[in-house]
Amino acid sequence: MSSILSEADLNDFISPGLACIKPVQNEQKRPENSEDALVVGKEPSEPQKVSISLQDCLACAGCITSSEEILLGRQNHKVFLEAKSNFTAGMSLAVSISPQCRLSLANFYDLSLDVFDAAFLNLMLCYFEARYVVGTQMGRTLSISETNYELSRRKTLDKYKKPQLCAVCPGFVLYSEKTKPELVPHLLDVKSPQQITGALLKANNQNIYHLAVMPCFDKKLEASRADTEGEVDCVITPREMISMLQELNLAFSDFLNGPSLQDLQQRLTPEGWNPRLHWVSNSGSSSGGFAFQYVLNEQRSNPGSEIIQIMGKNADIREYRLVDSTSGQVLASSSEVYGFRNIQNLVRKLGGARRTSRNIVITRKRASEKNASDSKPTEPEPARTDFIEVMACPGGCINGGGLLNEEANTTRRRALAKKLDTQYSTLLPQTECSEEFVSSNRYKFSAIQKSTDVVTVGNTW
Ligand code: SF4
Ligand code: SF4
Repeated sequence: MSSILSEADLNDFISPGLACIKPVQNEQKRPENSEDALVVGKEPSEPQKVSISLQDCLACAGCITSSEEILLGRQNHKVFLEAKSNFTAGMSLAVSISPQCRLSLANFYDLSLDVFDAAFLNLMLCYFEARYVVGTQMGRTLSISETNYELSRRKTLDKYKKPQLCAVCPGFVLYSEKTKPELVPHLLDVKSPQQITGALLKANNQNIYHLAVMPCFDKKLEASRADTEGEVDCVITPREMISMLQELNLAFSDFLNGPSLQDLQQRLTPEGWNPRLHWVSNSGSSSGGFAFQYVLNEQRSNPGSEIIQIMGKNADIREYRLVDSTSGQVLASSSEVYGFRNIQNLVRKLGGARRTSRNIVITRKRASEKNASDSKPTEPEPARTDFIEVMACPGGCINGGGLLNEEANTTRRRALAKKLDTQYSTLLPQTECSEEFVSSNRYKFSAIQKSTDVVTVGNTW
């Protein structure tokens, strides 16, 4: 979802003037005793509310600001507090929090990351009586490892559709499903760190209520998908967390002087997990590093190769090429494409792949001429890479709409995202994600290819 959206905007209802991608059925009650004849020019004076479920909504920014029920009906802090107060005997709370949210909250409270982490764990333990509190790196390591495994496997198939698209950003997945079904076959079917973390937490104990603190509202939609339901019970954003503490009259500073971070991590880590590993991160972008981790993994099986980074005209496009240091041959490639505008360009370029036979001949000729200089860093060409990390938010997840970055001024907002991005790569210790982490339980989801005959008027994409 667009980062300009916030829960605070969700205060009106869908205007019939904004046509949703979900066909709107404006059912009017027939007045009693009416004949079948239509009365021309007679319109209802009041616009009617349109009912759209979480699973219908694309979060396309068309009217998400107007659909209060969509986001707040099933996934908000009030729902969490009510569920918590109704826990039955034996029910336990597990909380997961993404690294982007930890950095955003630490920045908001003006605390170092370690001090914030300790206070957050203390708050969840002492006030909310959480049994487990975890970072999302275990889920992410599995998500990256499965992505790499799946990419290597698909490259050997005849029907391999290049480029493969990362499907961990629900904003992009929903957009593809609802308005660009031709992209769906390109989507990888590997679940996101949020969902895998949920599956891990509930693997041996279904009596767990899983609250996830995530950087955007789209994550609520992801948690509500039919094929992932049950892994995450409620998603709240850092903004909602602050509102919740205010409503509960809780001061975050009251939880600063608890046990040490190490003690809390030890105590709140699920049995069998390494207490440090789920709090770290991995190399690559602050949106998960999926693109970089793919070429890094390919490099492991290509000794003597090097990774070249090619920056785009804007900071939201980047390409990684793995090249043979001797021959200069490109062995693998991936890219990062963030923000709606760049995604639109990408979609246009992918659509351009459907050329006439004449064009195909010319393109092949040009491609073969180009191979000689393939390794030379020029402009990123995401549509030609093996794999693309696509993120709906400009700047990626470090600029998610649920983070505490409500700067009205765009320049200051970007500066804050850049600051958090730098902290992400310098403050979080990094772990390796290799295929040895691929588990026998495959964490798959199914993107849905819907028909194209849907109403798209009012769609801002
Ligand atoms: S217009 Fe877009 S954001 Fe609004 S309800 Fe429809 S899909 Fe969701
Ligand atoms: S880029 Fe990240 S924060 Fe933004 S919508 Fe996608 S998953 Fe959410």
